[in-house]
Amino acid sequence: MPHIAELIAVGTELLLGNIANTNAQEISEALSTLGINVFWHTTVGDNPQRLEEVLATARRRADILITTGGLGPTYDDLTKQTVCAAFGRALVPHPEILEDIRTFYETAIHMPMPPNNAQQAELPEDCVVFDNPVGTAPGCAFEAEGVHVLMLPGPPHEMRTMLRRCAVPYLRGLSSEVIVSRDIMTFGMGESAVDQLLHERMARMTNPTLATYAKPFEVRLRATAKAESEEAAQAMLNPVWEMVCETLGDVVYGVDVADLAECCQGLLLQRGMTLATAESCTGGLVSEKITALPGASLVYRGGVVSYWTAVKGSVLEVPQEILDSYGPVSEECARAMAEGVQRITGADLGVSVTGVAGPDPDERGVPVGIVYIGLSTPEGTFCRRTDSGPTRRDRIRGIAANHAFDVVRRYLMGLPINPARLNFSP
Ligand code: ATP
Ligand code: MG
Repeated sequence: MPHIAELIAVGTELLLGNIANTNAQEISEALSTLGINVFWHTTVGDNPQRLEEVLATARRRADILITTGGLGPTYDDLTKQTVCAAFGRALVPHPEILEDIRTFYETAIHMPMPPNNAQQAELPEDCVVFDNPVGTAPGCAFEAEGVHVLMLPGPPHEMRTMLRRCAVPYLRGLSSEVIVSRDIMTFGMGESAVDQLLHERMARMTNPTLATYAKPFEVRLRATAKAESEEAAQAMLNPVWEMVCETLGDVVYGVDVADLAECCQGLLLQRGMTLATAESCTGGLVSEKITALPGASLVYRGGVVSYWTAVKGSVLEVPQEILDSYGPVSEECARAMAEGVQRITGADLGVSVTGVAGPDPDERGVPVGIVYIGLSTPEGTFCRRTDSGPTRRDRIRGIAANHAFDVVRRYLMGLPINPARLNFSP
């Protein structure tokens, strides 16, 4: 029987909208890689009666319950007491945990442990203790009547550490199967276009499975296989990868890479080439994405944010006649910006972005959403014109930055810069 999980976030702040339930997202993501179905996310305030009702419902419909929050030392931290009452477990003191908490206070916080922290050293009878190396409240897991209950702390960094170190290994131990996933990354086709091409095959697949996820401005496909061993699961995924590449073509830019920037970094490293950027409407977004990667200095020379038209001329040496005749948002300007930044930095490749992010058209009447990407290379200069339509400013900028990386990637892979197939309708 496949496991079914329900995540229960405890905290009135979540219900008031003061904070977002990021713990649920992170736990769900981890469980999906373990092949555990998450059918419900429930959020409840710091209220023992309502938590009790939630637990009663959850244990009827799921066999893995994971709570977050309410493990702290304050009066509103009631998760452990309520869970123990619901499952008929006693709370028992653990002297060694009390010692750990006292040491944590003395060495990490440099103060004596407040007396009410003692209740954090009480855990359900016969439970597996989840240590908390980055905080005070330990978590735990126990099984009662076929239901596994895991309690994790609320603060996201404590939850994350405990999830990775304790909860995932615990959950993996509940099944003899190995689950392996691969993320196939695409850029250049909207989610519904991808879905149209793959839907029939995806619907027929049971193991391995294939699902699409729209990431901001691109589409990720996750292929997942269950098998007796890692090798067997990997072997099942190879044909899926081949099928997706065959169907979608060169919009597939990689597997198990985080994004286009990381993909470009890898390609630049392989080719021993360097990149420089000249950005207008993206205001440094392309530069930010590449410098966020460790090791960026091996492939990235630097960039110019030439936001003001005069700076395109004075710093990037875009000829005045181009700015006068075609304007700053034009193919001619994008090409000259890319060539200019390549020249002044000495990089092998210069990529440029100039466009209209909105909300108003530019002074020459170029509509919102038009963006030109220039790429200057040892083999000549290329340009892509993109039109994301009059959408939100942050969206236009995000898409434009991805186009810049896509143009670089296509050049480095020897693919056509402007494939006929580019289609971004959602
Ligand atoms: P503490 O020992 O800090 O009291 P706790 O386990 O009792 O930890 P809570 O008191 O419920 O956890 O929450 C502590 C903080 O953790 C909250 O103020 C909030 O910032 C964050 N937090 C709690 N639950 C979540 C959640 N589901 N998603 C994201 N952040 C959360
Ligand atoms: Mg608390």
